[in-house]
Amino acid sequence: MVDDKQEIIRVEKLNKSFGDLHVLKDIDMSVKESDVVVLIGASGSGKSTLLRCLNFLEIKNSGNIIIEGEKIEKNTHNLNEVRQRVGMVFQHFNLFPHKTVLGNVIEAPTQVKGIKKEKAIRDGKELLDKVGLGDKYDVYPSTLSGGQKQRVAIARALAMKPDVMLFDEPTSALDPELVGEVLATMKKLALEGMTMVVVTHEMGFAREVGDWVNYMHDGRIVESGDPNDLFDNPKQERTQAFLSSVL
Ligand code: ADP
Ligand code: MG
Repeated sequence: MVDDKQEIIRVEKLNKSFGDLHVLKDIDMSVKESDVVVLIGASGSGKSTLLRCLNFLEIKNSGNIIIEGEKIEKNTHNLNEVRQRVGMVFQHFNLFPHKTVLGNVIEAPTQVKGIKKEKAIRDGKELLDKVGLGDKYDVYPSTLSGGQKQRVAIARALAMKPDVMLFDEPTSALDPELVGEVLATMKKLALEGMTMVVVTHEMGFAREVGDWVNYMHDGRIVESGDPNDLFDNPKQERTQAFLSSVL
């Protein structure tokens, strides 16, 4: 079978250090159009740093990051422009507290992209409807549950019409009863064909929604594969140890 899906993200021999601390070591990774790639691994293994490099919130030391066929370098590219194509959702939602829910969603499209306010409002309401917050346009974030806040954050990222969405432990800060609604929103996005890279400890989600799983340990991807294969038959001892600690 010929796989002609476009490669949205390609990472080659990516290295990142903070001072003497070598955090990412020769990372190779590929994310194709409409794929859901899940990153798992212990705390401190480099998952967030990898996502932040993909969104250019951190600048790599060496290696290549290729977005939609274009090798992105900070000297040759406008990283703000590239960042619009790579949406990100964080563990702590980082909503603007003094703006309404809809205000949060239309902020970047109007301020960064120069979209007309009426159009941004129409699109923003549609996105909020989609994440199940059609009755919350005009309230402030402080009145929302964590799960609702995270769904606003997802709508806000989608408002920039990114080609890929990065999620960094989007449910880790939530009370257990609120995790499901956020995962359901992410699953819906995945089913609509959104390309996603997801750092999560939710192995059920990884198995059900993920097309590919990368297990990170100490700055390296030590094992990757189809979620069912990797969870049922981990090849590396490290992966086995990690999985038995979380499953
Ligand atoms: P994970 O998300 O897998 O828990 P991180 O990418 O957050 O891992 O962190 C990997 C390592 O890099 C950790 O040792 C962490 O302390 C370190 N680190 C992350 N960000 C910074 C930073 N801005 N400055 C210095 N060290 C950092
Ligand atoms: Mg992290």
